[in-house]
Amino acid sequence: MMGPRETDPDRTSNCEHSGAHAVIATLEQVLAGVPVGEHTLELQCKKCTRKIRDGDEITVEASRMAEPLRWQLTRWWCPDCVPAPINSPTPEERTARCSCRVATISDGKTQHHWLCLLEPTVTAIVPPQVRHHHDSLSR
Ligand SMILES: [Zn+2]
Repeated sequence: MMGPRETDPDRTSNCEHSGAHAVIATLEQVLAGVPVGEHTLELQCKKCTRKIRDGDEITVEASRMAEPLRWQLTRWWCPDCVPAPINSPTPEERTARCSCRVATISDGKTQHHWLCLLEPTVTAIVPPQVRHHHDSLSR
């Protein structure tokens, strides 16, 4: 009557926690909707100064500020001007690069319009400088 309970392979699979992936997913959520530039529609590629408009695809670089703890976009480029991947981590700062589209945000109250990130995809993350990695530092 009470046969041995068979182990269901579907139910015994361990939850696989991928820390890195979780971080990226969170970061993409955080970056979505972040304004590009100074709350303006006047946006240019940092290299060729081509105008970036609503719907354009761009690559942005974002840095995490310590105080207050938030992400701020520092640079952005059109698809033709994306430089080589970041290789110089800055102390106490985390930098991420992501590709995305830009969209216009409108504030009906203030009649203010600006561009923000839409559907960001993180392509690279540079962790804070590692202290015990002094051999590569020349100072
Ligand atoms: Zn450009």
